[in-house]
Formats: sequence, structure tokens, C-alpha cells
Amino acid sequence: MGSELQKELDPLENARLQFEEAAQRLKLDPSFVQIIKEPRRATIVKLPVQMDDGTFRVFTGYRVQHSIIRGPAKGGIRYHPDVNLDEIMALAAWMTWKCAVVGIPFGGGKGGIACDPAKMSQGELERLTRRYVADLIDVIGPESDVPAPDVNTNEQTMAWIMDTYSMHARHTVTSVVTGKPLELGGSAGRREATGRGVLFVIREAAKKIGLSLKGAKVVVQGFGNVGSVAADLLVKDGALIVGVSDVKGGVGNPKGLDLPALMGHLSEKKTVAGFPGGTPVEGKKILELPCDILIPAALENQITHVNASRLSARIIAEGANGPTTHQADKILNKAGVMVIPDILANSGGVTVSYFEWVQDRQGYFWREHEVNERLEHIMVTAFNDVARMAEEHKVSLRVAAFMLAIKRVVDAIQLRGVYA
Ligand code: NAD
Repeated sequence: MGSELQKELDPLENARLQFEEAAQRLKLDPSFVQIIKEPRRATIVKLPVQMDDGTFRVFTGYRVQHSIIRGPAKGGIRYHPDVNLDEIMALAAWMTWKCAVVGIPFGGGKGGIACDPAKMSQGELERLTRRYVADLIDVIGPESDVPAPDVNTNEQTMAWIMDTYSMHARHTVTSVVTGKPLELGGSAGRREATGRGVLFVIREAAKKIGLSLKGAKVVVQGFGNVGSVAADLLVKDGALIVGVSDVKGGVGNPKGLDLPALMGHLSEKKTVAGFPGGTPVEGKKILELPCDILIPAALENQITHVNASRLSARIIAEGANGPTTHQADKILNKAGVMVIPDILANSGGVTVSYFEWVQDRQGYFWREHEVNERLEHIMVTAFNDVARMAEEHKVSLRVAAFMLAIKRVVDAIQLRGVYA
């Protein structure tokens, strides 16, 4: 891969460019840029774990708090062989902007352990998780830093984190972590929250450009938690899902796929590929199917300078984190495509994580429709705040979302003052 292309595909480089463009537009005092650019704290822990064969292995774990200006650090923990400090620092900053853009009272954090969970037993993963929590016992906490699931961690991992933290505290502390099972203080509606949030911002975007969702053609790349929930809810609003794909392949039908039948095929075959109600679509070609709305909900770097001009959608709602490169973003902007940026479009997940933390702290749990109504209020308000910023400054929704988020953090610093 050429070094230019390598640079285009570096999500951390993309995040840096996004931050800098917005900071410049805001004409920020460089001393404030200095304060918010770097994480406030990065902790590295060495974690000895006894493996099932009796030997010991030492793993490296990280927890980065980018900002706690607006509230406790918030962000997931990932288990992956490629986890490293640079990546975790960049992802922690992203969380600061994501929480600020939806106006929830959290800062940004991220954690991870360099490990290969596919090659570890449940027992090894449990011991690794508990040791990580024990070593970070003074770093995380309901008032200081609240982790959540990310790549290769799940409800079970969160349950172990909650239990370990609680054993040290000598009482049960459910609000130390979100994304827990319902039985242990999880929130109703958390599983669907990100896909539902994608629906709410698409509704607002469609209103803005005068597109009716009834009969609107939608393509969804990635049919997991985010993509499948968004597709299901859009169909209930009258949209036609004309293409879906997952890691094994895709399927398209310009007249609309039969979603219940597709879900049946998915639960039987574990993939949407080969669904008989449409024609096969290979790889990234799914993004180029004629449609009104495109939802990339799989991976980063799917829309690049190579395919951006071939897309037909009027609205792109980024369910995934970082699916559009900086270069592709410029091309789409010029073409007048409304791109709802990841930090806004997929923030339904962290928003309901916030609701989980609130419910745990008050020890009183909301019904699912209450969670959904509150989520809708936050997503609709955030979309309109970003759209207003974009109109005022004549910038894209992405630049506006970063500007709004950075401004909220800087305003908080100014109000608090810098303690010296
Ligand atoms: P998931 O694992 O449930 O689903 C991912 C889907 O993408 C699967 O269908 C998988 O087969 C598909 N996929 C993987 N590689 C692909 C490829 N090359 N081409 C097409 N499809 C491919 O994950 P998820 O929770 O739905 O997350 C999807 C994206 O949304 C990720 O970028 C994630 O970071 C982001 N996100 C998720 C949440 C959340 O709450 N789940 C919140 C914010 C952002």
C-alpha cells in the first residue's frame, strides 16, 4: 500500500484532521487546544495471569482518560492483539467529542488489553479481566471513569468488572460499568440503542432535505447489532431495504428485501449472503447500489477517495466508527451528500449507557418506552444543534459536530477555570 493511501486509511490520522479543522474554525486560543488535545491521564498495567496449562503470561493493559472536564471519563474496553497506547489515546479523545455532542455529562476514556481472546478460554479471560480491574481500582469508578464493552468484550466481561470492583469496595457498585446484563443493573433498550439512534437522526436528516421515509431506498453495510436494528426500525417507518451485506457477502433487491425472511435466513445460516430473495452483491459494491440512504455499519475506512464519487445516496448515516476517510468526506461534501457523522449518528449507544449509569445510581429502572423516548429527545436535540451550527458556519455536519463538541468542552474549562 502506498504511503498516501496508508495515511488516508489511518483512522487516528483522520481523527486528528477532523479535530484540527474544527479547532481552526472555532479560532480557539492555542492554550486551550493544548489542554484538550492530550489525554489527562494514561495508565499502563502489566497483568500476570495464570493460563489453563499452569504457566503464567504477562499481558499489557491500558486505560486512558482523555477528559473529565464535563463528567467521569466514559468509554469501552477492547481486547485485541493490536491494542496499543496510541490507538487507545485517540479513541479516548473520540469519546470526549461523542459525549459532548449529545450533551451527556461525561468526559472521554478508553481502555484495552493486548491479547487474542479467540485463543483464550473463558477462565483465562475472566482472570485477565479481574486482574485488570484490580490494578485499575483507583482509576475507574462511578464518579471518575466508567468503562463499557468494545471490540471483543461483552455483557459477561462487564459483569466480571462490576463484581471485581464491588468485592474491593465491599458492597455492590453496579454504576462502575455499563453494558451489563439486565439482571445486574443493565438498561432496557441498551441492545437496540445505537441502531435506534441511527433511525432518529435519519428521520431528522430526511425532514431537512424533504425526503419521505415512506418508500425511501436504504442500503445497510454490516448486519450486526447496529445495522440490523436500524434496518428493522426503518422498515417500520415505511422504508425499503434494497441492499444488505455482512462479512461473508451481500444481497440486493431494488424492490426491497423481505426483512422477516432475511432475518430467518440470517438466524439459520449465520449470514445474509445467499438469501434467495435478491441477487448477490460482492464486497464493497453494496455501497454503490442505487439508494437514497446509506448506512455503513460494519468497519472503518469503507468509503474512500476511490469509491466516494460512485455512491448515489443523498444521506449517509455513519453507524460504524470512522467509515468515511477524510478525503472521501470532502468529495461527498462537494457532491452535496448529507453525511451524518459517526460521533453524532452512532451516539445512541453511549447515550443509553448514560441512562444505565443514571438508573444504577438511583436504583430505579425505567421501562423500555421511557428509555426510547429519552433517547429520541437527546438524539433529535443533538442533530438539530449540529445542523444549526453547520448552517451558521457554512460547514458540513461533521465539522459542525466537532465544533459543537469542542466548544462545549472549552466552555466547561473556562467556567471551571484552571486550578493551579
Ligand atoms: P457487530 O459485530 O454486531 O456487527 C458487525 C457487522 O459487520 C457484522 O454483520 C459483520 O459480519 C459485518 N462486517 C464485518 N466486516 C465486514 C465487511 N468487510 N463488509 C461487510 N460487513 C462486514 O458490530 P456492531 O456492534 O453492529 O458494530 C458495528 C459498527 O458500529 C462498528 O464500527 C462499531 O464500532 C460501531 N458502533 C457500535 C456501537 C454499538 O453499540 N454496538 C456503538 C457505536 C458504534
